Amino acid sequence: AKKQGRSRWCLFSKSLHQEMLDRQKLLKDLRLAVKNQELFVVYQPILDLQTQTVCKFEALVRWQHKERGLIAPDTFIPLAEESGLIIQIGDFVFKESIKQLSVWRETRHPDLIMSINTSPFQYDEAGKHLNHWYSYLEEMQVPGQAVLLEITENMLIRNTQNVSRQLLSFRDHGINVALDDFGTGYSSLAYLNELDIDIIKIDKSFIRDLDKGAASQALCEAIISMAHKLNLKVVAEGIETQEQASVLSAYRCDFGQGYLFAKPLSAYDATLFLRNSFPQ
Ligand code: C2E
Ligand code: CA
Ligand code: CA
Ligand code: CA
Repeated sequence: AKKQGRSRWCLFSKSLHQEMLDRQKLLKDLRLAVKNQELFVVYQPILDLQTQTVCKFEALVRWQHKERGLIAPDTFIPLAEESGLIIQIGDFVFKESIKQLSVWRETRHPDLIMSINTSPFQYDEAGKHLNHWYSYLEEMQVPGQAVLLEITENMLIRNTQNVSRQLLSFRDHGINVALDDFGTGYSSLAYLNELDIDIIKIDKSFIRDLDKGAASQALCEAIISMAHKLNLKVVAEGIETQEQASVLSAYRCDFGQGYLFAKPLSAYDATLFLRNSFPQ
């Protein structure tokens, strides 16, 4: 029995060891990927649900790995956060998407907005990782009003002081803030009031269940009407069916995003999508 236990321990420890090596390899690759520009940004349209036209894009990062193919952000963002690489990746996504936004705004879409995800690790006391974004906006001649920065609900708890300071600074530059994945974290409605939030994004798990019945319908309706009473706009993410879109429209949800309208698109395809959204 002892022997068996021992060999089991060996097996377990070997796979743990293997896992560690895999992670180290992936991290090494990620470091190179950042340097060698294997990362790129895709853009998912966000529609005004009343007019059915594109008013924003969400920038989402992708990694085209030489051997492993496309790696999802859910796999490498946590690794980037642990290793500090998230700072460089966040800068890359910001600059790339703002550059693209400036092109779109100059060609027939002057009111378009770019929504960009941020990680709690980018927020520190002095704003040293984020404050230089303002000069990039100036350089690209993109006003702060054209930028929406998404933060997840969970990060507010961990990092309230730094985040609220940074949000004030964003506000000074006209930048708006969206609370992402709303409803999934340990949400406190008090945050909505205390912090300067402009938009909430209802998590796709609530949208997915909209077809299934009264409970999530009641939840969505309540979230939307509460948000409106607090003067916040609402984005519903993960809309996949026409029924979901109709229900959300009936609840006066402001904006929608999801496979029903479009998957995240390359800059080229997003340009075509924009063109079709506003026929001449
Ligand atoms: P998120 O911010 O909640 O982004 C929405 C995710 O839902 C995206 O997954 C998007 O492709 C997916 N999605 C959009 N419409 C639908 C739909 O109709 N149905 C379903 N099932 N899914 C839909 P993606 O691109 O794989 O990103 C996953 C997560 O990775 C993001 O979740 C975000 O937390 C993180 N992420 C992505 N890009 C960045 C980035 O540039 N910076 C940071 N910090 N995080 C990022
Ligand atoms: Ca997001
Ligand atoms: Ca989300
Ligand atoms: Ca998320």
